[in-house]
Amino acid sequence: MVDISRGSALGSSGASELFQLLRDGVPRTRAALAQSTGLARSTVAARVDELMRLGLVTPVADAASTGGRPPSQFALNPAARIVLAADLGASRAHIAVTDLAGSVLAERSERKDIALGPEAVLGWMVDVGLALIDELGRDRHDLAAIGIGVPGPVEHSTGRPVNPPIMPGWDRFDVPGWVQQHLEVPVLVDNDVNIMALGERAVAWPSVEHLVFVKVATGIGSGIISGGLLQRGAQGIAGDIGHVRVARGADVPCHCGNRGCLEALASGPAIARSLREQGVDVQTGGDVVELVKRGDLDAIQAVRQAGRDIGEVLTACVSLINPSVIAIGGSMARAGEHLIAGVREIVYTRSMPLATEHLSIVQSAAAGNAAVLGASMLAIHHALSPEGIDALAAR
Ligand SMILES: [Zn+2]
Repeated sequence: MVDISRGSALGSSGASELFQLLRDGVPRTRAALAQSTGLARSTVAARVDELMRLGLVTPVADAASTGGRPPSQFALNPAARIVLAADLGASRAHIAVTDLAGSVLAERSERKDIALGPEAVLGWMVDVGLALIDELGRDRHDLAAIGIGVPGPVEHSTGRPVNPPIMPGWDRFDVPGWVQQHLEVPVLVDNDVNIMALGERAVAWPSVEHLVFVKVATGIGSGIISGGLLQRGAQGIAGDIGHVRVARGADVPCHCGNRGCLEALASGPAIARSLREQGVDVQTGGDVVELVKRGDLDAIQAVRQAGRDIGEVLTACVSLINPSVIAIGGSMARAGEHLIAGVREIVYTRSMPLATEHLSIVQSAAAGNAAVLGASMLAIHHALSPEGIDALAAR
């Protein structure tokens, strides 16, 4: 017998532990729950009743049952609560309200400069969040948690950005503490690439345990999911591959002070700069993408070379963590297969055969929604954890 009743704050009922079996949304009977947990059927029945009282679990019609028997299966009720998800980018912000399955119920995207500072941007986020909740006709007490992604390093345990280069005024700012003055729910903060990895997995690879998401935009970074869990490392900076040195870049200066960094060769601005040096009239990474889409050969070759540079660094990642999926996103991924082809060319030739036998290197499926969906996943994961369920029950 497995005793899963200990350690619950839901009195002695242990309903939050039972809920962990039901949070995947797959309907189960009381008998199946009793079998999985080793608990007496009467105990399971009482815990299911408690979860139904909280609205977290709902009866699901049993497809196999006929003759008007009452429904005997139970599953997560995604509508029970809502979460607020915010992707605060360098110059744009995307806010969404989702249910507990991550389905977007309402959203808004606006130009919002992160450099306006934390109080201006977070204040706006709170106002938009409350407006969206009103529009949905939901009560703000239905809000279970808030997930926020920001374009810089975050100390995950405290939710504080740490020396973020493009976020003036945010260094060590207590994001959760400030937001909780307005909305008293758990606030989870992470960097944008980490939450993009979570969003990509939720959208396209829900059963994949080992996934690397690479964002190629103004900067280059990656989010690592290994063993089904986002890997942040000791200080939250795991996956920060932009300043790894690549062979081709020996003398190219990087804004970090070093030379030859991946970001100094293969980011959007770096590709644009290399094309300008060839006499091509481009200013930004976006201009490069437009040229590629029009079939410009110089731009295609530059993007493909950037893909090779990224592939050089990813080859080391493949050896270290053996992912089964590498998803490439960020604004430069809109250049399509040319970037991916460069990555594949190097990773597939430079890696051990076993490491690439079942490795997919693909364009992000979640694309522009990866970050906001990942912020939602961050919030949901916390809200549905044993501690999160206990907290909901205690409110
Ligand atoms: Zn650098």
